[in-house]
Amino acid sequence: MPILVVARHIKRLQSSRRSAHCFPLCSLLFLIAYLCLLVMTVLTHIVLFKYKPSVPWPELQRHFESFEQLPKKCVKPDGKPYLKSLKMGMNLSWQAFNKGMTHGFIIEFESQEDHDFYHLEDPVHIEFSKNAAGLVEDSVVVDIKDGVLFGSKPKKPGKAPGVYRGSCHCGQVEWLVKLDTAEHILCHCGTCQKLGGGPYSMNQIVHQDDLRIIQGQLKTYTYTGASGNPVNCYYCDNCTSHVYHHQAVMHDKIIVRTMLLDGGGDMEPSAEIFAEGKLPWIQDIAGLST
Ligand SMILES: [Zn+2]
Ligand SMILES: [Zn+2]
Repeated sequence: MPILVVARHIKRLQSSRRSAHCFPLCSLLFLIAYLCLLVMTVLTHIVLFKYKPSVPWPELQRHFESFEQLPKKCVKPDGKPYLKSLKMGMNLSWQAFNKGMTHGFIIEFESQEDHDFYHLEDPVHIEFSKNAAGLVEDSVVVDIKDGVLFGSKPKKPGKAPGVYRGSCHCGQVEWLVKLDTAEHILCHCGTCQKLGGGPYSMNQIVHQDDLRIIQGQLKTYTYTGASGNPVNCYYCDNCTSHVYHHQAVMHDKIIVRTMLLDGGGDMEPSAEIFAEGKLPWIQDIAGLST
């Protein structure tokens, strides 16, 4: 009888040792499987729109037709379509929780990169969004990855450095500018407030050779900067849009207004200067050094 008890004890020990060895291996396999799932998980982009009631039906119909065409027309630079699927339709819920949203659109992407390309670079979608902007009164956007319930959101990618087209309000002046960092530097100085009539201006410093005026004429307004040196401001002589300015102390560097560039609205703010001039009701923009 005691022999049987010892044998059982040894058996128990062996099995507990087996499970002790097994545990880290199982965890590792589980982790690998989870990471694979995360990598393979489709990104679902959910958009709800409330259309303006004043938009005539034919215009809405054209908009829906071009929406339906996106999976065919949106292609990567290699010519391959990349929208995995698109579902769209009007809200049919009898529940009173729609917040006025009349239509829903669900797009699936294979990756975050495809999602970011769609929103920031794809000329077909950018053109579509521009046309749709006037029809939509309100919207809700949510991105989900099936099964991902915790963690941080992906950061909005900055616009790629490159050449940007700028234009003034009346369209008489057009220019091209090369930006190494396609982000806004906010300037809260009193001169920017006075010249622009707003709480701050949005700028980038570039080499003067990186700006090329391709159409129209600019006029110059000169004032004396804080350093006692002249500052030349270049603006459209018809509509007065301020294209850039040059401080004599900055030699071959000029300051271009980034909000006048195509895609300027999608650029992120990267820094703030002359914070002492910041109006008290302007909210802090997280992560910016002032
Ligand atoms: Zn103009
Ligand atoms: Zn300023």
